[in-house]
Amino acid sequence: MKRLDVAVIGGSIAGLTAACLLARSGHAVSVFERSASALTSRGAGIVTHPGLRSVLERCGSPAAARDLGVTVEGRRVLDQDGRVIAERRLPQVLAGWGRLYRLLLDALPPDRIRFGAALATVDHREDHVVAGFADGHRITADLLVGADGQFSTVRSQFLPAVTPAYAGYVAWRAVVDEAALSPTTRSAIGGHFAFCLPPGEQILGYPVSSLEDGDAARRSFNAVWYRPTQETALNALLTDTGGIRHALSIPPSRIKAEVLAAMRADAERVLAPPFTEVMLRAGQPFLQAILDIETPTMIPARGVALIGDAAFVARPHVGMGVTKAMEDAAALAEALDAAGGVVEAALAAFDGRRRAYGAAVVARGRELGAYLQAQQHGAAERAATERFRSPEAVMAGTAVPPDEILV
Ligand SMILES: Cc1cc2nc3c(=O)[nH]c(=O)nc-3n(C[C@H](O)[C@H](O)[C@H](O)COP(=O)(O)OP(=O)(O)OC[C@H]3O[C@@H](n4cnc5c(N)ncnc54)[C@H](O)[C@@H]3O)c2cc1C
Repeated sequence: MKRLDVAVIGGSIAGLTAACLLARSGHAVSVFERSASALTSRGAGIVTHPGLRSVLERCGSPAAARDLGVTVEGRRVLDQDGRVIAERRLPQVLAGWGRLYRLLLDALPPDRIRFGAALATVDHREDHVVAGFADGHRITADLLVGADGQFSTVRSQFLPAVTPAYAGYVAWRAVVDEAALSPTTRSAIGGHFAFCLPPGEQILGYPVSSLEDGDAARRSFNAVWYRPTQETALNALLTDTGGIRHALSIPPSRIKAEVLAAMRADAERVLAPPFTEVMLRAGQPFLQAILDIETPTMIPARGVALIGDAAFVARPHVGMGVTKAMEDAAALAEALDAAGGVVEAALAAFDGRRRAYGAAVVARGRELGAYLQAQQHGAAERAATERFRSPEAVMAGTAVPPDEILV
């Protein structure tokens, strides 16, 4: 095996997983993360899938992979009055993002990650890659891994035409301490992956373990409320308290009071009472525009690979962002092992294995979100997508691994 110098850009889920696995294969890995210190959780939950747990085990966290979060036994749909109108058994483990991040960070020797290192440029030469950082320093590597998220600097250097496409709706996310919810709400939705499907909209929620450093006692309830929003109306939502217009998401503390007040009034009007309570109790809800990102290649230049959200972003209905990111990282490490460290052969094999999968996950997200997206369009298009709104279709499709859905 040839021992490679690998630079990983981005120290979040995809980057840390890649770094762990490549270091375990014997490569000299350095992670460059723009944030000045360890990332802090946005507190929300993730749905764990078998692929996530298997990659986590290979990163050196087998015990944690078996005990990641809260298990729910099934799903239920409430009508707008709060009555249960459909149920389905589907056991799943729901974890806090922050716990997974911590496990990966702990699996990597601390001297492998540099915080406060923002990549600015990438050049590829005959047999190596040169990365330039915002503070002026430069490094060379045999392989550069772009794990720098949906607004990837690495991707934009080589594929500037690939940009996020707004899907026509936004998501409000709320996280509340489960113990603070009323007993009625806890029994209605607390132990379930629960949904409510008001006309033109969708809200779902599930409990997550909020433990990050071993505090097993705390549980939160995490809700995501999808709301069709014309592109022109985004302006008002994403313009902050200081008048700055953010592109596709806004720092929660800077959402205008009137925007929050309107959202809360709508929650009382359209949501089942347990979900209304969650939205009203959330101290600082987050707001993000839903988007799709799809790259034509995951190997945009010689010696350069894109993984995770830097390559493909699927709508959250698929519940695959974290699992896909970790599996991309694992596929890259496996391809390098199989090619004995020969970069070009490994990258071709990696792209061959993961590109179609990433595109399929994005396509699945579009399908699951078709009903919400169609709200911007005419009656015919809305009617054609009505089937994606049925309680059975929503319960069967949401956050279920695509392998089980896509042929
Ligand atoms: C702080 C944080 C909290 C999150 N919380 C949740 C959550 O609660 N629930 C959920 O479902 N998803 C969450 N996500 C998103 C989720 O982690 C990703 O969608 C998914 O796991 C794919 O991860 P990724 O590593 O590809 O991308 P990301 O997680 O977006 O990570 C990209 C990383 O690259 C870094 N970066 C970007 N540009 C540069 C640059 N030029 N130079 C160096 N570094 C750069 C970013 O700072 C970031 O750490 C969160 C992401 C972050 C960063």
